[in-house]
Amino acid sequence: MVEITIRKRSQTEAVITQRKFFKKTARGKVVKVLRERYLRDDVGCGIEGCRECASSDEELLPVNGDLTHQSYPNGHYILPDTNVFLSQMDLLESDRFRSPMILLQTVLEEVRHRSLPLYNRLKALTKSEDKRIWTFYNEYRSETAIVREEDETPNDRNDRGIRIATAWYNTHISLTRPPIRGQTKNAPPTVVLMTEDAANRQKAEQAGISCISVRKYVEGMKDASQLLDLLSATGSDDVEPTRASGRQVLYPEYLSSATLMAGVKAGELHQGHFNPNPYNYLEGTVSVPAFSKPILLAGRENMNRAVQGDIVVVELFNEKEWKAPTDEVVDQEATLKNDDAEDSAEEGDENGEDVIAKESRVLRSAQVPVSERQPTGRIVGVIKRNWRAYVCHIDSTSLTSTLTTSLSTQTVFATPVSRLLPRIRLRTRQAPSLLNQKILVTIDRWDTTSRYPEGHFVRSLGKVESKEAEQESLLLEYEVPYRPFGKAILDCLPPEGDSWVVPSKGGGDNHNVWRDREDLRDVIVCSIDPPGCQDIDDALHAKLLPNGNVEAGVHIADVSHFVLPDNPMDSEAAARGTTVYLVDNRIDMLPSLLGTNLCSLRPYVERLAFSTIWELTPNADIVDVRFTKSVIQSKAAFTYEEAQIRKDDPHLQDELTKSIRLLNSLAVKLKAKRMTAGALNLASPEVKIHLDSAESSEPIDVEQKELRETNSLVEEFMLLANVSVARKIDESFPQTAVLRRHLPPPKTNFEKLQDILRKTRGLTLDVSSSGALAASLDKCIDPSEPAFNTLVRIMATRCMLSAEYFCSGSVGRDTFGHYGLASDIYTHFTSPIRRYADVLVHRQLAAAIGFSPLHASLHSKSHVEKVLDVVNRRHRMAQMASRASVEFYVGLALKGRGEASKARGEGEVREEAFVIRTFRNGVGVFVSKLGIEGLVTFTRDIQFDADNYTVTVPGSASAGSKEDAKISVFDKVVVQIEVEKDKNTQRGKVKMTLIEPVDSRAL
Ligand SMILES: [Zn+2]
Repeated sequence: MVEITIRKRSQTEAVITQRKFFKKTARGKVVKVLRERYLRDDVGCGIEGCRECASSDEELLPVNGDLTHQSYPNGHYILPDTNVFLSQMDLLESDRFRSPMILLQTVLEEVRHRSLPLYNRLKALTKSEDKRIWTFYNEYRSETAIVREEDETPNDRNDRGIRIATAWYNTHISLTRPPIRGQTKNAPPTVVLMTEDAANRQKAEQAGISCISVRKYVEGMKDASQLLDLLSATGSDDVEPTRASGRQVLYPEYLSSATLMAGVKAGELHQGHFNPNPYNYLEGTVSVPAFSKPILLAGRENMNRAVQGDIVVVELFNEKEWKAPTDEVVDQEATLKNDDAEDSAEEGDENGEDVIAKESRVLRSAQVPVSERQPTGRIVGVIKRNWRAYVCHIDSTSLTSTLTTSLSTQTVFATPVSRLLPRIRLRTRQAPSLLNQKILVTIDRWDTTSRYPEGHFVRSLGKVESKEAEQESLLLEYEVPYRPFGKAILDCLPPEGDSWVVPSKGGGDNHNVWRDREDLRDVIVCSIDPPGCQDIDDALHAKLLPNGNVEAGVHIADVSHFVLPDNPMDSEAAARGTTVYLVDNRIDMLPSLLGTNLCSLRPYVERLAFSTIWELTPNADIVDVRFTKSVIQSKAAFTYEEAQIRKDDPHLQDELTKSIRLLNSLAVKLKAKRMTAGALNLASPEVKIHLDSAESSEPIDVEQKELRETNSLVEEFMLLANVSVARKIDESFPQTAVLRRHLPPPKTNFEKLQDILRKTRGLTLDVSSSGALAASLDKCIDPSEPAFNTLVRIMATRCMLSAEYFCSGSVGRDTFGHYGLASDIYTHFTSPIRRYADVLVHRQLAAAIGFSPLHASLHSKSHVEKVLDVVNRRHRMAQMASRASVEFYVGLALKGRGEASKARGEGEVREEAFVIRTFRNGVGVFVSKLGIEGLVTFTRDIQFDADNYTVTVPGSASAGSKEDAKISVFDKVVVQIEVEKDKNTQRGKVKMTLIEPVDSRAL
């Protein structure tokens, strides 16, 4: 691409426009800007060998354009308008789409204004080596630059500019290729305006400009059958008509955005994110500030085409019509399995009536006491769609033909992997070959006449259950950026690469690395981590002082020495936010040269660190704390287990062991103090996957994670460092300190758990404060069942809000507290290799101790807020991705175990489980040994006592019991676990059946 440099104005270059405006600088100063646009005659057309335009070294458009399109035998280039880039990016990005393309500056700027994500994709496209795209600076070339006319809208102005540029190109091509004497003149290639706007096409045709719609264009291409699948239905005025839409209005129209805004402002309507119910596709909720309980939406009509995460506006029903959520599992795949993808299947056909009857039965409000009802309403508008590309499977039953040779268009259902999403209807010519594949699908539209959203196929990720496809789909599903680091980022690394060392003190220190750094190389420092840890963020030491106190130090990798503010590596780390750990893979936040080598506090080598050093009394009270940049040389890298063994071995009396014992004795006291202050001991199901070998990564077994004293040792000192650093940076930068808080949960979150505990076990949960909660959780024990307490803790943890990063100047000081840790202030300082917030905290701490000045961006509240918004989001997604990765491997391990067990003639895997929920038609169970949840549904009628969270299964000989069996929440049951392939989607699904107290297979 050519960069335009504006030269000094010459006589012939006239000023075409002058624009004056005021601009606020980052520092808040207002400056006047005068922008003049100069015109030039040397803006190149980009066509190879053009006689008139100066050639450049950049990649050019081929001289004859593209010769493979049916409609343009003499060759052509396409010139898409803005809407084509806005709505058909999946098509343009496809490897099969190779047409040479002219991108107008007008179009590029319009895309930038309309959508930043699409603009970034477009920029990436122009840099891609597989594409031939020329950016033509039409606004700077005298013949193509235009000025907006009076009573012309900006839109019309741009459309006119695009038509003028297309016409200019065609004239330019014919003028620069005069006929050569003695040769028959071939018609020159055409520049074709590509637009979905019929009115614009008409105007272009009148002006003699060749133009085409996207669909017509793709139909004439070589790979038409595959490429047509990629077409998005949005913004297109010649969509193939489907039988499925356009018949009958199924959903209410949305209100206008002005009405929505006014309603929200007046408090008559409510705005919030739409959360579908994972157990029942016919229900969803929207949390809004006006109510402590979320607003319930029951039925598809009231959910009115909202998709998970959409920002919606809700109208509340009259209080008499409020409902309680249903206690039933309603699976869309099962309920809607006979739906015909080609048809809206609403009225008049048997299946449609069936579905409606079933749905309305579910929705019929059971007689619930007024106290259990919650605000109920309907969605009247969508402020912002959360649509993205979803990982799906094609539902094989929706295919009309499975012949792989058939390339006819079929309308099929794509079932998203996530239970929170509706099925998506899409048209494809390759349906048979997409069966058993994981595919990526985007939603394009959801009309009032269509029961399902409509979308298009983006690409295939590979075969279902292949590790590659599963892993990539997981990263896509949780929006984890996983592209390899680009050159600009890698260029920020030290040029010495892995031979970089800490320079010797004195003469060799050309970059002043030792300036203001303490030499702690002789201190007996070690690190304690999980086995196989390569990115060692932290190391510790402790020693007795002559006055009887203890000096303890936490040394953290000095990442901010290598990652400088605002360079490409820093921006990438900020965008990634965190390293993502999957069972068999790690998606790094920083290039591995830093993460696993130069920053990693490996043993026996000198490393730069940021140290927090305390003087503590033997009772673990802080006498003094200081912070310093340092150079350390770790003396050992232990696993938790190794450190534990060493600490417990009475024969060992070396300095290192003594240091671990000292740290441990302090950690025990620190923990006791935290607990006294009301910290919560929370639990989440954590399991460990054993992999066969690094290469095959076949899981062989699952076990619960074992926690040792040494885990706690490291944790306590990290917490202490984080709290000490938080106080320091908050004191120095009260407006922009990067902190972390955990808001207390709304009391209503615990209502159900409290009620269940009271009714089933006679236990009370006091949630008046975190201390009270901690104490009452301690009392939730069942002497005969040690796992019961952990289960209650897991359930209580789910009632909490999640912790979040925030900017100290952006929220009230009374909300700084960390509820779970019972600390009045907190931050993250100890893992800068894998968390970006810590990198910011390091920069703030370095400035707070006068080591280096604070970068301007960290003085800006709005900048810090913006960065932390991204980081918070990335953290949530990373956690979900890790969990999903564990679930996938648990599934594989179970499958392996099941096969092995069957081979031994022992039948399927059986495990003990706890009931954690009861439904009208089943129970939810938790298998603590495997850390997984499952659902057991009963097809035959059972009695459901919602008040007492109990289902009663009538006795029958086949179920192994003549007596009625009562099953309540917290009961221990035995389930059989199988991994079976879903017939329709071919994905492996964990299926659980109840074996004890009754055999649900007979029900
Ligand atoms: Zn030219």
